[in-house]
Amino acid sequence: CGIIGILGHHEVAPLLVEALKRLEYRGYDSAGIATVSKGVLDRRRAVGKLVHLSDLLVHEPLAGRLGIGHTRWATHGAATTGNAHPHRSGPVAVVHNGIIENFRDLREELAEAGITPETQTDTETVALLTRMHMERGMGPHAAAIATLHKLEGAFALLWIFEGEDNLMIAARKGSPLAIGHGEGEMFVGSDAIALSPFTDRITYLEEGDYAFVTRAGVEIFDQAGVVVHRGETKVDRSA
Ligand code: GLU
Repeated sequence: CGIIGILGHHEVAPLLVEALKRLEYRGYDSAGIATVSKGVLDRRRAVGKLVHLSDLLVHEPLAGRLGIGHTRWATHGAATTGNAHPHRSGPVAVVHNGIIENFRDLREELAEAGITPETQTDTETVALLTRMHMERGMGPHAAAIATLHKLEGAFALLWIFEGEDNLMIAARKGSPLAIGHGEGEMFVGSDAIALSPFTDRITYLEEGDYAFVTRAGVEIFDQAGVVVHRGETKVDRSA
């Protein structure tokens, strides 16, 4: 339901939780974050209020200056910890707003490749497909794009990868996604409100766009894979 991603200079776990709090107004049934720390991908998830996630993080902290977070409003699969985002498969973690309409077909395709889902969600297929592509030799960029081409439905998606301390991949189709520009830091959020603690310089992805985000900036492509320039707007952070 709500998405946040931070490629920062500081520990991101508390910042991710702070941003998720700003997305509370959308409603949610569970929440989670994933980070990459010294190359290692890890995640924490909790059902119910965000305070359950922050309590969990007190007992089981998550280090890292790159991370993604999600508040979930379940559409496929009950509101359990196992179904909460980020979804992970091997080196891939992903958060998703929306619905992957063809996830049953994708599961059949995955089954043929010997890959079995561990959750009831539509979203997990995105992580499984991306991992499958990487195991077949693709790098994270190519694997995310190959996965994107298979997805039908409405989505805002954000990927991070084990071993990649300076990469987030974002995609939007039917659900909004905003890129926030910092000073050597970059942010991604499902709306500008989530990004307002960090920056007022926002670029909105357009329908079908995907983006490679590093601390140096963002490279945006349209759905044909052509590099595009999307303007930057200054939002009113007091709102
Ligand atoms: N369809 C996904 C799920 O049920 C994402 C729902 C959302 O937008 O929070 O997990």
